[in-house]
Amino acid sequence: MRKNIVAGNWKMNLGYEDGLSLFSEIVNMVKDEVVGNQEIVVCSPFIHLSSLSKLSNTVTNVHVGAQNMHQAESGAYTGEISGAQLKSVGVTHVILGHSERRAYFGETNALLAEKVNASLKHGLKPIFCIGETKEERESGEFFAVLKQQLQEGVFHLSEEEFKNVIIAYEPVWAIGTGLTASPEQAQEVHAYIREEIAKQYTQAIADDTSILYGGSANPGNAQSLFSQKDIDGGLIGGASLKSRDFIEIVK
Ligand code: PGA
Repeated sequence: MRKNIVAGNWKMNLGYEDGLSLFSEIVNMVKDEVVGNQEIVVCSPFIHLSSLSKLSNTVTNVHVGAQNMHQAESGAYTGEISGAQLKSVGVTHVILGHSERRAYFGETNALLAEKVNASLKHGLKPIFCIGETKEERESGEFFAVLKQQLQEGVFHLSEEEFKNVIIAYEPVWAIGTGLTASPEQAQEVHAYIREEIAKQYTQAIADDTSILYGGSANPGNAQSLFSQKDIDGGLIGGASLKSRDFIEIVK
């Protein structure tokens, strides 16, 4: 059965102490909430990861993720962090292909495919982000865009490898803008993604894949989004920086 996941993406926010306090609050508030096949993943800046992962060891179903990694094993890549390094501090997940990485750091589907391979090699679960821009939505070409992101980013994986992938659908026009895809718009895309996974792999694999929605999700709209049949949780940016909002979303 696929997992219901709420993942927080802190982006480039919070100093060390503030990050630790927020995470401790989250852990205290959710430790009795997340049960069974539910999972929380907090994706923090690199500076927090080691400490958060130690704190997360005390609770089940709460995990720590990075927001990016380098595809190489190690070596002369000044300023970068490898999958092996993330693994060494207890990180279990990594966001790959966030639209901000694609837009500001030139990350292409081809590069992301390498990062996906490297993450799996180190036993990290990639939260692979796909999403269309406003222009692509308005031109009606968004299904083709999403399909290409899937094909070039993750569909080269074997069935066994793909089982470790989490997909996040994040329409670029909804990220940090206060504009949310309607539950129907999001459901339409999530159903499409699941269908494409079934075509590429099997229906069973598609049914087991968690597909998260991201883009201005908040305590007010989470319920209507997450109650859609193919929406298995969310990737939360802004609202993950306030413990109460994040917990409300989890609930
Ligand atoms: P947002 O960000 O919730 O602030 O829109 C989502 C994301 O970028 O993952």
